[in-house]
Amino acid sequence: MKTDYQQILEELYHVIKVKPDAGQVAPYIPELAEIDPSKFGVHLAATSGEQSGIGDHREKFSIQSIGKVLSLTLAFQQRGEVLWDRVGVEPSGNPFNSLWQLEYEKGKPRNPLINSGAIVICDMLCTLYDDPLTELLAFVRKISGNEEISCNKQVAASEKKLGFRNAALINLMKSCHNIDNEIDEVMDLYYHMCSIEMSCEELANTFLLYANHGKLVTTGEPVITSSMAKRINAIMQTCGFYDEAGEYTFKVGLPGKSGIGGGIVAIHPGSYAVAVWSPRLNAKGNSVKGMQLLETLTSKTGLSIF
Ligand code: GLU
Repeated sequence: MKTDYQQILEELYHVIKVKPDAGQVAPYIPELAEIDPSKFGVHLAATSGEQSGIGDHREKFSIQSIGKVLSLTLAFQQRGEVLWDRVGVEPSGNPFNSLWQLEYEKGKPRNPLINSGAIVICDMLCTLYDDPLTELLAFVRKISGNEEISCNKQVAASEKKLGFRNAALINLMKSCHNIDNEIDEVMDLYYHMCSIEMSCEELANTFLLYANHGKLVTTGEPVITSSMAKRINAIMQTCGFYDEAGEYTFKVGLPGKSGIGGGIVAIHPGSYAVAVWSPRLNAKGNSVKGMQLLETLTSKTGLSIF
């Protein structure tokens, strides 16, 4: 029987919306701290072409760390397997901006979805392109099928001004010879990548690529190989939720990535991509209501990868 995603999302949305508010919006830059914490939206895009959504699902927000998956995808498409010489594929079990493990492991980040790993990926893109931000945005616009996707320059500037730990991470990696380009150039790309804005609808449609074995659902064009899509899904599953990836996998059972803007995107390979946005975060940096909604979605539909 065909699953009626719209009906399921509506039901879950209303149940979770009225649950007691827990958590806090990300406090560390003013642009994120000022977001209305009651925002809540969810959108599901199916590989069959079906679109379902409710709430603030068409309102743009800062995708933050979710962008790390997109920059990884472009670098992996361009560089292939050699990428893994400079960044690992193990969960870190540590906060996303942790320094101690990086020093202990001589400047090679555990994985591309923590800050240090995403910074190394940005360094690779700076080596590949004269104008890496333009190339990254062109890539994101292509896979999203939306020419309007853009960054928020004010968010990027704010982050750059206050990104003391990220500055420490890149300096440490530079001292270990794992950064080739100028620190300023790499961090500029990193912060702009984090400041990309999308709605749940746009995010779900962008991430449909990973549910469709690396091919665009709209045209069938392969963007990455199915093996690359499988690997990126595996990294999202094991590393996509800061130091809460185990808990998320236990509860939701789908590859996904969260960002401190309150967004989460999750993929059911072969079936759908779903994006949810609620700005209040738990202590680990993941959206409280976002996690609740995805947990209930996979429990209710019985559709998880496990
Ligand atoms: N721009 C944030 C940082 O670099 C990303 C945080 C996140 O969403 O995990 O700290």
